[in-house]
Amino acid sequence: MESVTELFRSLLQNVPHADRGDRVILNCPACGDTRKRGGFLWTQSPDGLQGFRYHCFNAGCEFERATGWEPGSKIGFRVRHLYELLGGNPVDLIKAQPIVTDHSHKKQQIFVPTAFPEMTLPSHFVPLIDVYEDPKYEPHIQYLMDRYPVFIDYLHRFWVSDKMLDRIILDYRYDGKITGWLGRKIVGNDGARFLTRKVKNFFPGMDLLKLSPKYVMVMESPFDALLLRGVASMGSSIPPVLEQALANSSRIPILLPDRAKGIEAYMKVAQNRKWPIWVPPKGYKDVGDYLRDRGLLNTIMEIVDAVEAGKATHIHAKMELRIHGL
Ligand SMILES: [Zn+2]
Repeated sequence: MESVTELFRSLLQNVPHADRGDRVILNCPACGDTRKRGGFLWTQSPDGLQGFRYHCFNAGCEFERATGWEPGSKIGFRVRHLYELLGGNPVDLIKAQPIVTDHSHKKQQIFVPTAFPEMTLPSHFVPLIDVYEDPKYEPHIQYLMDRYPVFIDYLHRFWVSDKMLDRIILDYRYDGKITGWLGRKIVGNDGARFLTRKVKNFFPGMDLLKLSPKYVMVMESPFDALLLRGVASMGSSIPPVLEQALANSSRIPILLPDRAKGIEAYMKVAQNRKWPIWVPPKGYKDVGDYLRDRGLLNTIMEIVDAVEAGKATHIHAKMELRIHGL
């Protein structure tokens, strides 16, 4: 197994560079630099293993703030990003240093399924699109219109049932095939707010991890995940199999916890994995609440801007909660 430093060194063979012994100088791949302002500095730990620092002297470059890796440390998302910019496949980094989730003080590699069995919906479920003019489904349509700025685009994903008139049902899919459903209470206060059935180890939006955009947003609610084309954790924690699936993906997860009790679980993952985390401002309970007020596009841009500016770290989130409370 090659070390992370060795992987970077072999990538550099395909990139024009100047080797100065303890450092390598090159055009920084992140900022369009043409004056060899990027540099790797090789470091040595007491046991002789090699790590590195990468830094760019170009003002305003994302690597003006150095990044790096040392043997035994975790691979941060900036290191992964740098690896990608140099033409590498971040999956190789994961192979070089398996990212493990340690729950029993025993290291175990978690298996992430990439295929799921299809699930049949109960026969009494009816596509909302077929019955939307029926007055008894007026509350369902109203709920979607309130919740979704562009709800018509998602109408095909919703179901209703005479046996669950108090709920709106969202299907879950993986590669277009149904893998579960969520019935959200919209009338009355009795019974559970959410009823859900899904195939094992599946989380809504998981298939999106195969796509190539830079980021993927992770939040509690499948409803919000549908709007943000993200992944739902289905609760205030990030279960190990989902965490591993996110780590295996070439996309950078942006964690969007609810501003509520239980936020610590998300914060801990953000801290351990060095994944960006964004907490909605005081007065908003979750990202869905925020985007209903601010609009979908504004919300996405605000979050991505905060991440790109390095202002969406677990430290920022902690400070925000310390200053303003939940
Ligand atoms: Zn640069």
